[in-house]
Formats: sequence, C-alpha cells, structure tokens
Amino acid sequence: MQDFFEQQRPTLSFEIFPPKGKASLDKVFETVDALASLSPDLISVTYGAGGTSRDNTVEIASKIQNSYNIPALAHLSCVGSTREDIARILAELKDKGVKNILALRGDLAEGETLRDFHYAADLVRFIRQGYDFNVYAACYPEKHIEAVSMDDDLRHLKEKVDCGVNALISQLFFDNRSFYEFRDHARSLGVRVPIVAGIMPVTSAKQIDRMVSMCGATVPNSVQRFIKAFGHNSMAMKEAGIAHATEQIVDLLATGVDGIHIYTMNLPSITKQIAENIRGILYALRVKRG
Ligand code: FAD
Repeated sequence: MQDFFEQQRPTLSFEIFPPKGKASLDKVFETVDALASLSPDLISVTYGAGGTSRDNTVEIASKIQNSYNIPALAHLSCVGSTREDIARILAELKDKGVKNILALRGDLAEGETLRDFHYAADLVRFIRQGYDFNVYAACYPEKHIEAVSMDDDLRHLKEKVDCGVNALISQLFFDNRSFYEFRDHARSLGVRVPIVAGIMPVTSAKQIDRMVSMCGATVPNSVQRFIKAFGHNSMAMKEAGIAHATEQIVDLLATGVDGIHIYTMNLPSITKQIAENIRGILYALRVKRG
C-alpha cells in the first residue's frame, strides 16, 4: 500500500477530535472545512482521547477521506475492546476506504479495562496479520508517563515498530532538544521509520496544566514566562502560542524532521496562522527534495 511518506516529505498533518457525548458533528466539519483549505497531507481523528467519544471516529475519518479527498488517519485503541470489536471497526474502516490507522493502547477511564489487547504492539500485530492498512503508532520524546525509564520505553518502542509500524507520531513537547535526543536514541536502536513531531500550540494556561498532568511534558522557562506575562489576555496568549509553535517548527524543519503533526485542538484559526508562517519553508524543502 502506498504510504503518504513516499510521496513527499516533510509532511504537514493535523489532529482533530470528535465532540464529547452526543453533540452534533457540524462543528467538527466546520473545523475540517477550514483545515482542508490548508491542503494537509493527512488529518487524524482521535478515538476516546481525554473523554471524547469513540463512536464518531469512523464516520469523521470516512468523510475526510471520501468527501474532502484528504488521507484520513483513524486512531484506534485497545481499551475495552475484544478481538471481535476491533475486527468490526477495521472492517468498517476498510469498507469506507480509510487506509491509515494509528494503533494505540489508549488510557483507561474509570471502570474500563484492557481485554484482548494489552499494548499497542498487540494491536499492530493483529492489524498486520489480517488487514492491509498503513499502521502508525505513538512515541514519547520525554518517555511515556508510566515507563520506568527512557531505555525501557525505547526498547518497547522498537518492539512495537518491529511488529509492522510504518511511521511514528510523537507526543507533544515544548523543547526541541528532547525530540532530537529521543530521535537519535531511537535511530541508534534501529528504529528506521519516519518520526513525525507532534506540536501543540500553547493557547491557555489551563490547557497546558491539563496536558502536563496527562502526559508529563516539561514546560520550559520560556513558555512559563509568556504564560505568566500574557495568560490573562486570550489574544496575547494566542499570538505568543503561535509564535512559539512556529519557532519550534522552523527549527524542526531546518534539522530534517520527517513531518509535523499539529494538535489543532479543533481551533483552525491558530493552525491556519502557523501553516501560513511556514508555507514558504515547506515549499522550499519539498522542491529541494524533488
Ligand atoms: P504502548 O505503546 O502500548 O505503551 C504504553 C506503555 O507500556 C509505555 O510505558 C511502554 O513503555 C509500555 N510497554 C509497551 N510494551 C510493553 C511490554 N511488552 N511490557 C511492558 N511494558 C510495555 N489516547 C486515546 O485514548 N485516544 C487517542 O486518539 C489518542 N491519540 C494519541 C495520539 C498520539 C500521537 C499520542 C502520542 C498519544 C495518543 N493517545 C490517545 C494517548 C495514548 O493512548 C496514551 O499515551 C497511552 O497511555 C499509551 O498509548 P501507546 O499506544 O503509546 O501505548
């Protein structure tokens, strides 16, 4: 199956999430409308992340793929699922022409358990054994929050990739040095697949507190300073967040990153501004690569 990484690099892709509960999908498709105008290489749709619904991922991914003609990446997690549940979702995705899956373990909400799949690697193996999808997986520049050490986490990452992963997308990070160290370490262990950098623009102090408690990302002094200085004013925070994300991305592009994946938080105006800031750089890199 042709992977979008074979077509052009560095890639630019976006993550969106379905609404919580039974809210209408109209708002999500307004977000997709705005993001589609930026011609991304791929749009990913989360699955139950942070308490959002697991019910609409297939429908949203299918519409991105078929109505917007943008490659969709459907997230899928092990949480609460049996082999039969996963097989049913995979059959539905295949039927709807979605070709890319981000295979995750997921995080357990209260009352949930892991059933037939305990690690993302189990899901990757299951998909590889019976289906023809491009398989993506997650990686963690500052190590996964539950891992005892970076070495342990990287060993598990290598095992996961060896189960048949085509590309990795990183957890958010605010200091590029952590990404570079992680990438060098992963490469030295023989991880050869593209490693896409996940970037989350900082738009509010509350959002950062939530993210840090969920994934353990380090917030550098430079970011803490602008949150402290501008946190009271949403427009100032937005501008500072866009500037910081742009700076991170420019540096990543200058050092040969395989791709940038923006966690849009369903806020297309912020993503749009960032994409405009890097348009010429992306173009120049793609022309150079031919
Ligand atoms: P795994 O790769 O299974 O790793 C989980 C932990 O287990 C790690 O600490 C790892 O070191 C350890 N481990 C792995 N294999 C073994 C082994 N054999 N023995 C012992 N330990 C092992 N969550 C959602 O619910 N929905 C989403 O849509 C979603 N999207 C995401 C997108 C991205 C790009 C990222 C980075 C994360 C996303 N998450 C999402 C969060 C993710 O589900 C959590 O971070 C979860 O805790 C770990 O998932 P994983 O797939 O990385 O797990």
